Amino acid sequence: MPVQVEKQPPELFVITDEKSSILYAPLRRVMARANADAIRIALDYAADPASEEKQDDDGRAVIAALKEHGFFERRPFPNHEPDFRPTQVTLFPTNRCNLRCSYCYAFGGEGGGNGEQLATINLDAAKRAIDLIARNAQELAAEGMPCKNFLVSIHGNGEPFCAFETLREIVWYARDLSERLDFPVVLNTATNGVMSSEQLEFLVANFDNVNISFDGLPELQDAQRPLANGSGSFKSVDRTMRRLAEAEVNFGIRATITEAMVTRMAEIAAFVADNYPSVEQLHLEPVWECGRCVTSSDNTPSAELFCENYLKALDVAHEKGLRLVYSGARQDMITDAFCKVSSGSFTVTPTGDVTACYEVSYRSDPRSERFFFGRFDKTIGDYVFDEGKLEELAELNVKNIPFCNDCFCRWHCAGDCAAKVLEARTPAQHQGSQRCVINRRLTLNQIQRKMDWREEDAG
Ligand code: SF4
Ligand code: SF4
Ligand code: SF4
Repeated sequence: MPVQVEKQPPELFVITDEKSSILYAPLRRVMARANADAIRIALDYAADPASEEKQDDDGRAVIAALKEHGFFERRPFPNHEPDFRPTQVTLFPTNRCNLRCSYCYAFGGEGGGNGEQLATINLDAAKRAIDLIARNAQELAAEGMPCKNFLVSIHGNGEPFCAFETLREIVWYARDLSERLDFPVVLNTATNGVMSSEQLEFLVANFDNVNISFDGLPELQDAQRPLANGSGSFKSVDRTMRRLAEAEVNFGIRATITEAMVTRMAEIAAFVADNYPSVEQLHLEPVWECGRCVTSSDNTPSAELFCENYLKALDVAHEKGLRLVYSGARQDMITDAFCKVSSGSFTVTPTGDVTACYEVSYRSDPRSERFFFGRFDKTIGDYVFDEGKLEELAELNVKNIPFCNDCFCRWHCAGDCAAKVLEARTPAQHQGSQRCVINRRLTLNQIQRKMDWREEDAG
C-alpha cells in the first residue's frame, strides 16, 4: 500500500511502493522513481528554492533535471465555475423495472423501497428540459464557447425501456428539435438490455452511445440480475449486445462486483473481450451497500480483494485489447469534483423532481434534502430551481474536504462520490471510506504502469 511521506506547496507527493519511492506531481502529471537523497533534495527545494545554493553539484543536477520535467512548476488548482447553464440533461422515464437485481440501489420496480409510487415522467417535463438545454447550448455556441451539441441521456431509477412509449416520444422530440434548430443532439442511454425486438431496433437506430448493465458471466447475470419473475436474464442481454455489435453502435458494459464473485473478475474480462470484442469499455465497480443490497445477501467485497482481482482482470484486458475502468482510479483526470453534482448536474426523476445525483432520486431518501434542487412546475409548464441549493452543491468539492488534503489522488478522485461517502455529512466531516484504499491502490497502479512503459520505451 502507498505511504505518503510529505507534501509540499507545489503539490509534490512521495509515494512508496514495493520497489522504491516515487516523486509525483499530480497537477503536472509528472512522476519519477527516486532514491532517498533525491527525494530529500526535491522536497527541500519545493519548500524553499533558496536551498539550491546549499547543494553540491550532484544536488543541483537533481534539481535541474526535476525542473526540466516540470516538477516544481506551480499550477493553479482546478476550479470549475458553478454557473448553472446546463447543456445536458439526464431523464429518468420511469422507476418501473423488468428485473429485480439483488443489489439494486434504487429498489427498481419497487418504488424506492419506501412505498413511493411507480411513475412515468410527464412528457411536458421531459420536453421542457430538452428545450432548456438546447437553448443554452445554442446560446453558448453563439458566445464562442466550445459547445457543439446538446446531450440527452436516458437512464433510470428503473429500466427506461419499461416506459417505451414515453421514451420514444422523448427521443423523437429531441431529434426533431435538433433538426429545427439545425444544432446537433447526442443521445445516450443506460439500460439493462432486456427488451422486445421492436425496442431493440429502436435502441439500435436512435442512440449514439449505449451502456449495458451486465454482470460479466451468464451464471452471475442470471443469479444477480434476474427477471421480475425470477428467471434468468442473460439470454436477452446477450442478444441485445450482439445486435448492438452487429449494428456498430458504440456500447460499454458495467458489471457490479459483489463479494461472492470478486475472484472472478479476470474471467469476466476474458468473457467480455472474447464475446463482445467491439465493446468500448468494461466498467467494474464494487457494489455499495444501499437499496436492495441492504436486505439481500450481497455484500461489498473487501478493498484488498477487489484491488487484487481488478489488477488480474487488467492484465487479461490489456492482453485482449479491452479497456477496463473503475470510477475512482483516473490518474489522467485533473478535477476538483468527483462528478457533476457540484455544478448542478441536471437530472429529472419520473416525478419531475430535479436531482444532482443519479442515485438519489426519491423524495423519501434523506439525501434528497441535499441533492434535489428543483422541480417541474405543471402550473407554469416550466422548471423552478433553488439557487440556494445550487450554491450548497457547489461546496461539494475537494477543496472543502480537509480529509483529502494529503492524498496524492486529491485532484483525480477529488473526494469520491458524495452520495456514497458523505451521506448527510458536510465536506468538512468527510472521513473517507473503504473506496479510498481502492482509489489509491489503483491510481498508484496507473502511475506505476506509466513509468514501466516509459522505461520499456527508453530500453
Ligand atoms: S435493472 Fe437497474 S433499476 Fe432495474 S432492478 Fe436492476 S439495477 Fe435496479
Ligand atoms: S454523487 Fe455519486 S452517485 Fe451521485 S451522481 Fe455523483 S458519482 Fe453518481
Ligand atoms: S476520497 Fe479518499 S482517495 Fe479520494 S481524494 Fe479523498 S482521501 Fe483520496
